[in-house]
Amino acid sequence: MENKKYDVIIVGAGGAGLMLAREMGRKKRKTLLLDRKTDLLNLSFKTLGSFMDIKEFDLSPDVVATEINKVTLYSKNVKHSARTKASILDKAYLHQHLIESLDKEYVDIETGVYIKKHNSDTTGNITEIIDNKGNTYSATYFVDATGLSGVLSKKSGLQEKEPDVAVGVEFNVKYKGNTNEAHLYLGNHYEGGYGWLFPMKDNRAILGFGSFDILVVKELKKRLNKMLTIPHIAAIVEKDNDDAEGGILPITSVKTKIFYNNLICVGDSVSQVNPVVGEGYKFIFRSAVMAANAIEKALSHQDASFLSEYEQQWNKQYYNFYCNSKRMQEKLIKYSKSDTKVNIGMLFLKTKRDKTVEKIISGEFTRRDNYLP
Ligand SMILES: Cc1cc2nc3c(=O)[nH]c(=O)nc-3n(C[C@H](O)[C@H](O)[C@H](O)COP(=O)(O)OP(=O)(O)OC[C@H]3O[C@@H](n4cnc5c(N)ncnc54)[C@H](O)[C@@H]3O)c2cc1C
Repeated sequence: MENKKYDVIIVGAGGAGLMLAREMGRKKRKTLLLDRKTDLLNLSFKTLGSFMDIKEFDLSPDVVATEINKVTLYSKNVKHSARTKASILDKAYLHQHLIESLDKEYVDIETGVYIKKHNSDTTGNITEIIDNKGNTYSATYFVDATGLSGVLSKKSGLQEKEPDVAVGVEFNVKYKGNTNEAHLYLGNHYEGGYGWLFPMKDNRAILGFGSFDILVVKELKKRLNKMLTIPHIAAIVEKDNDDAEGGILPITSVKTKIFYNNLICVGDSVSQVNPVVGEGYKFIFRSAVMAANAIEKALSHQDASFLSEYEQQWNKQYYNFYCNSKRMQEKLIKYSKSDTKVNIGMLFLKTKRDKTVEKIISGEFTRRDNYLP
């Protein structure tokens, strides 16, 4: 194979890699996007709840499956609704839209390429990455966007070798409830994990259940089926198939080191998913835009030290938010087995304005918000 030298090689064409590739193409930088999958639209689950403003990322309105204007949180005995502005995104369409928006003159895509290792020079700069067939790929800058695989982030010490994970499973069900209302379920009554019900088009919805607890993970599907028998869920949801979708997301400590020499890491490869509700896309898209800007500066000044701007900007914007969300995640893990404690947490939430509730669940809240109504 011809070993063409690129400005940037992005490993992983999930949400983070696709957004970064789109941005690099817009900056007219020779970019190679690689993925081990042969079909980039072969996704393990197909809907995304998100607080993102799609205009911020210049996305087609068609990526939105449903607009959400109310979110209701449930513990065993307390229910609290807040007005909010969010959306349920059609993940497959979003990825397809991103693929179509890549500037093909500048961005090459190669699928079915499984990156296994890399070589570095004596200064620690990556010189080439190598796939499972021994093919090598060279660039000035490399991006790890491989999600939990973290093929470059783990070897560079930016991600744990075996990160702690949460696991989620989802059913696509018939839905009779309010099509603009999302539901979140917490506590032992809801099988000791966290549940979500996201309405979609055509009277369908996604009912999901996730857990941080490895014992629960083994029986996720069984527990999701049990949730379907809870009367207020059964009243609006009807299961008409047994197809389960799902996946894994990292719940590690908050990462502050997200680049190393000529390697930049984005998305789940450095745990950029919101620790509280597991929303990844808004954050990985922002991260991809920041990373693209830093790579562009490094390329135009021929100076890799500009990559540090990505890290600085990310930490400035998100370090405090993620630390707060991480603390809340730890409480959720601890209290999820006790309905009483979750009830108390919900009563605390009831003292808050809708805007504050939205900030808490969207992962962009400060410690100050704890003391605000
Ligand atoms: C069950 C579940 C529900 C979720 N719900 C939501 C939600 O409602 N809203 C939301 O915003 N987020 C949600 N998330 C989180 C969100 O899905 C992730 O944060 C996001 O997918 C991370 O994107 P990424 O591009 O970093 O990684 P990924 O999506 O994992 O993409 C990584 C890509 O890299 C490729 N790859 C991996 N290793 C290699 C390799 N060695 N060589 C080549 N290619 C490789 C993979 O094939 C893949 O295409 C959910 C996650 C789970 C598990």
